[in-house]
Amino acid sequence: MDAEHKKAFADVVGSKWVRDTPCLMDTYAFYMNPEILNKDGSVWLPRPAAVIMPETTQEVAGILKLCNKMDYMAKPLSTGFHCVAAASNEKVIVLDLKRMNKIVDLDVRNQIAVVEPYVKAINLQTILWKEGLNLHVISCGGNHSPLASATSAWGTGLGGPALSYSGRNLLGVEWVLPTGDVLTLGSAGEGTGAGWFTADGPGPSLRGIMRGYMGAFGGLGVFTKAAIKLYPWDGPSELKVEGGCPHYQLTDDLPSNLGLFAISFPSKKALADAGYKMGESEITYADFRLPAFYTTMGATDDNLELKRIWQSGLLQKVAKYHLIVAIIGGSQREYDWKLQTFKEILAETEGVILPLNRQPQASQAELAGKLLKYIDDPLKLFRKFPALKGLLQKIPGGERQLKKAISELFWVLLRHANNTQGNFRPSQAMCTSLGTFDTWDSGLNQSEWIAARKQESIRKGLFLDDGGDLGCGGTFEHCHMGYLEGIIMYSSKDPQSVMAAGKVIDEAVQACIDQSFGVPIAGFGCEMNAKLGPHCGNYHEWLAKIKQALDPNLASDPFFYSRHPKVPVTGGPPRRNEP
Ligand SMILES: Cc1cc2nc3c(=O)[nH]c(=O)nc-3n(C[C@H](O)[C@H](O)[C@H](O)COP(=O)(O)OP(=O)(O)OC[C@H]3O[C@@H](n4cnc5c(N)ncnc54)[C@H](O)[C@@H]3O)c2cc1C
Repeated sequence: MDAEHKKAFADVVGSKWVRDTPCLMDTYAFYMNPEILNKDGSVWLPRPAAVIMPETTQEVAGILKLCNKMDYMAKPLSTGFHCVAAASNEKVIVLDLKRMNKIVDLDVRNQIAVVEPYVKAINLQTILWKEGLNLHVISCGGNHSPLASATSAWGTGLGGPALSYSGRNLLGVEWVLPTGDVLTLGSAGEGTGAGWFTADGPGPSLRGIMRGYMGAFGGLGVFTKAAIKLYPWDGPSELKVEGGCPHYQLTDDLPSNLGLFAISFPSKKALADAGYKMGESEITYADFRLPAFYTTMGATDDNLELKRIWQSGLLQKVAKYHLIVAIIGGSQREYDWKLQTFKEILAETEGVILPLNRQPQASQAELAGKLLKYIDDPLKLFRKFPALKGLLQKIPGGERQLKKAISELFWVLLRHANNTQGNFRPSQAMCTSLGTFDTWDSGLNQSEWIAARKQESIRKGLFLDDGGDLGCGGTFEHCHMGYLEGIIMYSSKDPQSVMAAGKVIDEAVQACIDQSFGVPIAGFGCEMNAKLGPHCGNYHEWLAKIKQALDPNLASDPFFYSRHPKVPVTGGPPRRNEP
């Protein structure tokens, strides 16, 4: 950036907060798995022109006003967890919003939190639990920005059954438009004094335009405050913890109105039916379909042990249709009722609660695998005769192991502190596909499609042999919706593996069209919109019109959002979209 331009931006935020040194810019050009995003398999994203760190809404507005006058585009990031936060070319200024980290308001009575971009979910949750409240946290882990998830990008997490999904929890927003004008959307809008209780005002709502299905991925200006709907929390208000990463352990027992379960179902249909039944009776607080390979990963600490247990074939038999579930009651009586309902649903769907007091050891799994070689479903008797189910829980095991397993379920389902390092352990790289936000049935069908499609690359040794089915996801709003994304474990060091992963992702998008799965997680950005739009009311044309109307001077990086008449259709680096 030349000195004159730099000075203009420095006049808005102070010179300390405008940086363009190449080594710093490179840290904003390196993300997880860009080799899948970049069609040539390269690992770098474009270096931004500069990185600016504003502290106030007025400073953000000032930067956007300058971008309207100069040949720069702004691209905001909240935590920058994902490569969609990257600049799309060297004329983009990244707005790193880390200095905007305040909880602006916490309205406990009306269950609303108003936050700035760099308030992290895990910190907000810690405060909220003390007040008997909770927020929806997405499943990339508690370090994400609730503002970014609610306003701008995806928003799916394990609390989906009771806490909805991020985009639906938005109750208002302060929005610096691409022109630099500031708009407060909904009840908190200028001069109403009504507070942040809804994002829709009288008359037509702008919420569909600012957020829509997926979010605008930083392509429609900058959101500087978001009001987020909160939900009741009847779990512990504080946690006592021992141990260290990645095995933090709860020191105290969980309260008796909170239960965590791992369930094995006999078939896809049974898993689907149970999801709907639990949804209809509104008993689940959080849930997640944990594929057998992930279950094995979660039970092991190193790759050799993982390989031995996986190859024993045991987990494929007992955890193929595996769901982890959290149930919480507002009172002991409510919990007891929910638990009874849960058990009746399991009896109807032949679901079995797995004992948590035993962790499969490699040698035991190998022995059990041999003994059960010719038995398809080792849990069949327990499924058929519910009276026997109690026996499973009585299998002798360790108290320590039980505590460890409960802690880990708590961490995943309720605290959203994932073992991210563990996820990358077997193959170093992973990417995802499908995952349309539709029905629970459709999600399960998608996991089958991707499992079959991955087999060829698994046979060729290009993908890790996880059995194919890494369909991860859960239900939302008590199974009103559901989704499962199809994860692929590939090697980022092997160009053939990278290319194979990219190919499967592209084919998965096509499958969404051919099989009417819906709009996948990868369905964002110019290229994907053009592909999917004609099958969905030509939404890509509407996005382009919105983009042009709100951003006439192209001051907001359009790449991950929508095409703009000022950008040639073939312009920009050739990319493949993938979350
Ligand atoms: C391993 C992994 C797992 C993931 N799992 C999930 C998942 O389960 N569910 C899910 O929903 N997502 C998931 N994601 C996607 C993504 O990480 C999150 O949606 C994202 O982290 C949201 O918060 P953030 O602060 O990190 O957003 P960022 O990475 O900072 O930004 C995400 C997008 O939003 C835009 N944006 C951010 N802040 C603003 C703002 N203030 N104004 C305007 N635009 C803004 C950015 O430009 C960018 O396009 C996953 C990503 C990875 C790498």
